[in-house]
Amino acid sequence: MAKDTTIRCSLCNRDKKEVKVLIAGLNGHVCDNCITQAYTIINEENSHQAQKQVQQALTLLKPKAIKEKLDEYVIGQDAAKKILSVAVYNHYKRITYFGKQTKEDLEIDKSNLILVGETGTGKTLLARTIAKMLNVPFCIADATVLTEAGYVGEDVESILTRLLQAADYNVEAAEKGIVFIDEVDKIARKSDNPSITRDVSGEGVQQALLKLLEGTVVNVPPQGGRKHPDAKMIQVNTKNILFICGGAFDGIEKKIASRLNTKAVGYSASVNEQEIDKANLLQYINPQDLKSFGLIPELIGRLPVLTYLKPLDRATLRSILTEPKNALIKQYIHLFKMDNCKLDFEEEVYDLIVDKAIEFKLGARGLRGICEAIMNDIMFDIPSDEKGVKHYTVTYDYALEKLKNARLTQLQVA
Ligand code: ADP
Repeated sequence: MAKDTTIRCSLCNRDKKEVKVLIAGLNGHVCDNCITQAYTIINEENSHQAQKQVQQALTLLKPKAIKEKLDEYVIGQDAAKKILSVAVYNHYKRITYFGKQTKEDLEIDKSNLILVGETGTGKTLLARTIAKMLNVPFCIADATVLTEAGYVGEDVESILTRLLQAADYNVEAAEKGIVFIDEVDKIARKSDNPSITRDVSGEGVQQALLKLLEGTVVNVPPQGGRKHPDAKMIQVNTKNILFICGGAFDGIEKKIASRLNTKAVGYSASVNEQEIDKANLLQYINPQDLKSFGLIPELIGRLPVLTYLKPLDRATLRSILTEPKNALIKQYIHLFKMDNCKLDFEEEVYDLIVDKAIEFKLGARGLRGICEAIMNDIMFDIPSDEKGVKHYTVTYDYALEKLKNARLTQLQVA
């Protein structure tokens, strides 16, 4: 009998005529059917893995452990850290245990958060650190570029496009992700009265965000940008996505102060005028203040956990420079170690860096630019030194000299 010379798929044995494509390998062939099937299996396996990872992270971390992890990266801000740790823990508990709920089980409400604090106090850093710790997809969205659907700008759905991208388009993983919406204070309505005319960049966006925050199935354009009639949409359920909003709410202290004052005059005031710490009014913030600032009550209602971040003082800035796990100074030391050079700093250099950050009102964000101005020449010269420098100390005088020559604009690189 003649030998069968038909080219067949080595996996399913279909011959060339039965399939669209047969791809040749070193010792055989594989058909398009088998490739598609294998691809589906791998995808399922990946999403299974992602789910398992989330589950593992969650069973490992209790609120105290979450806070301790945050302490490694974020200095101070204890009030915010505690509230965040509990909210995140409860949120994920709700997802893991109540996914399998019985009829008698209570439904736990979603615990979206709002962080209020000056720019550069660590709001984004907190959200980012939480996401990294839990190993869930994370994205940052800027509320100022969002507009109501149909207007120039980005639709609110674009936020989810970003989250999908962060999750490598694994919808299941994205549905358990964390979204940080920055600058929500910029979408406050301009006056305390509900607007008569449409306010497309403020109140309109707040309205558009409501459904997203509460939990709904959203059709998301995979590539972002405007919805295109032909583009295939991806459906994402936002029910279990944790939204953390952040904003500086410039001037909100005045609203807090006036609320506290009226209370103090009235009877049964909970915060007595004498007890009020006027230097840090933000600690008394409550949802009413957000409403006076211009957030609509429906939006405030969907952000049930409210906390604040303190402005950074000198001591905190000094700690930020050297203490966090990936502190700037530790990073320079590490970079030099890779070149076999032991780098150290005179203690006074740290104070000088902090002084400059305060003098130019650069906050923590400015520390990097100041350090770069001091370190640039050293980083340029040392690796190329022919004799190989084994040890280098950055002195106060050297740092001062470098900063004298640096322009403020240079320091602002952050
Ligand atoms: P925000 O979101 O509040 O405007 P960020 O979280 O983006 O501020 O902070 C800007 C940078 O400043 C961070 O990348 C971090 O390096 C530093 N930083 C700010 N606050 C802290 C803090 N409390 N602990 C450690 N680093 C901080």
